[in-house]
Amino acid sequence: MSRIKKLTAIGRKLEKQSAQYFRLEWVQYTTGYDLGSQKAYQKMVKVFKDQKNFQAILDHKAMDLEPLDKRRVEILYKTFKPYHLSDEMNKLELEIQKLSTQLSQVLNTHRSSLEGREIRSTEITQILRSEPDREKRKKAYLARAQVNQPLFQAGFAELIGLRKEYARLYGAKNFVAYQLEQQELDTNLFDGWPEQAAKLLPAMKKIKAEYGEKFIGDAKVKPWDEAYISAHLAPELNQQVDMSACYDVLREFFLNFGWDIAKYNITYDIFPRRNKSEWGYNFPIQTAKDSRILANVENRYDEYGVLLHETGHALHSFLLKPREVLLNMGVSGIVSEGFANLFGDLLYHRAFYGRFFGDQPARAEEDFAALKRWDRATRLGAIPAIMFDQALYRENIKAIDDVHQLYWKTFRQILGEEPYAEEPAWGYRIHHTTHPIYLHNYFMGDLTCDMLREVFKKRHKTDDIMSQGKKFGKFLMEEVIGPSGTYTYPELYKRVSGEEFSLKYLAE
Ligand SMILES: [Zn+2]
Repeated sequence: MSRIKKLTAIGRKLEKQSAQYFRLEWVQYTTGYDLGSQKAYQKMVKVFKDQKNFQAILDHKAMDLEPLDKRRVEILYKTFKPYHLSDEMNKLELEIQKLSTQLSQVLNTHRSSLEGREIRSTEITQILRSEPDREKRKKAYLARAQVNQPLFQAGFAELIGLRKEYARLYGAKNFVAYQLEQQELDTNLFDGWPEQAAKLLPAMKKIKAEYGEKFIGDAKVKPWDEAYISAHLAPELNQQVDMSACYDVLREFFLNFGWDIAKYNITYDIFPRRNKSEWGYNFPIQTAKDSRILANVENRYDEYGVLLHETGHALHSFLLKPREVLLNMGVSGIVSEGFANLFGDLLYHRAFYGRFFGDQPARAEEDFAALKRWDRATRLGAIPAIMFDQALYRENIKAIDDVHQLYWKTFRQILGEEPYAEEPAWGYRIHHTTHPIYLHNYFMGDLTCDMLREVFKKRHKTDDIMSQGKKFGKFLMEEVIGPSGTYTYPELYKRVSGEEFSLKYLAE
């Protein structure tokens, strides 16, 4: 450890600046006020750009170090390298950051309207779940497309263009390849997906048609029908709950795994208000020191899914060792999404829903089992979204219609589905703007969840992880959290499961 003291100090500097930047981002996302997040970002970039820092990294790279130190150096080198290739790239990077912040402001403050009235995204969700009139659902769903135009006009195509140019200067094949390299993933990772998806499609379509027939009287399920069908499969999702009690509920639940969230500095901002971002996030301000959760709940049971997921992220941060500042930078996004989703999924587990639906547990169990089957059948829908996000960087985007054509093309290719409207809803997904080439993390995170559950069940000869919650917590600590920065995602996956990553768990 002592041989890389200098680098640990650099990591600390970076941690300090990034914490400041994330605090200001938090303000922006929760209130809409910009108190100088750009300036804070530039201060952080200054650490990256510092020639002395980079030289120290290069010096250590040339040393004969023990493997773990080598890994620490490698993580730092990978994040610093792009800032030391050319001034042009540094200039571009700042432009990208500035523009993506501007565009995220457009998204955060935009409110769609429906029949002449301003409507919150949580209300749209509510309509999609409960409105029996299919036409009305369609209108509400398509209200999400209203942000496309303002987003595009604010410079979406320019943002894509800047990122393409950045990747070109870096020497990557394209921006997708650049991002995957940064995430330590193989650029060929997605090559076989369309074929693998095509094989799974017929079975999934059959399940979708079956439930479509049953709940909307039409085997052809449209995007605005999916939440409605979910809500009817499990009416429990929509049940009113008192969210002012959520902290105690969450705390008690996580105690099952031997973790007391009350010991950690986790902030929750969960009720909607004007100028607040309408989605759910975790702001990992500083590892094991300060983690904040943004959500928008309207007292429905299924919103606990978001709180469980985001609390999983926060917990992840507090389970890491703060002194491992460099290794912590190497934790894969897939691992963190997978970890968070392990808990999000428990929304359907009796250990969680028991306290809400204790009077009719058999019914809840049956409903949630059907819902899980349905969720599996609709999971494939994530693939075209991932592919669309990537395609933006492979094709020429000049007019907004280019984006729309690309969207339809991708959906046709993967799901064999035809356009459902004049304009698809895409811009509202903030990832295309602020977190490009990130969506695969959720999807692969889900498949990682499946893998972790299966491995645990096999090893501990049980068919229910909750029957051995504390052991499961220990398993996650030892197999996932502990080694998560030490190994790249593909290595970690193989280490736990003994297999290479594939879409195999989609089929089961
Ligand atoms: Zn997440």
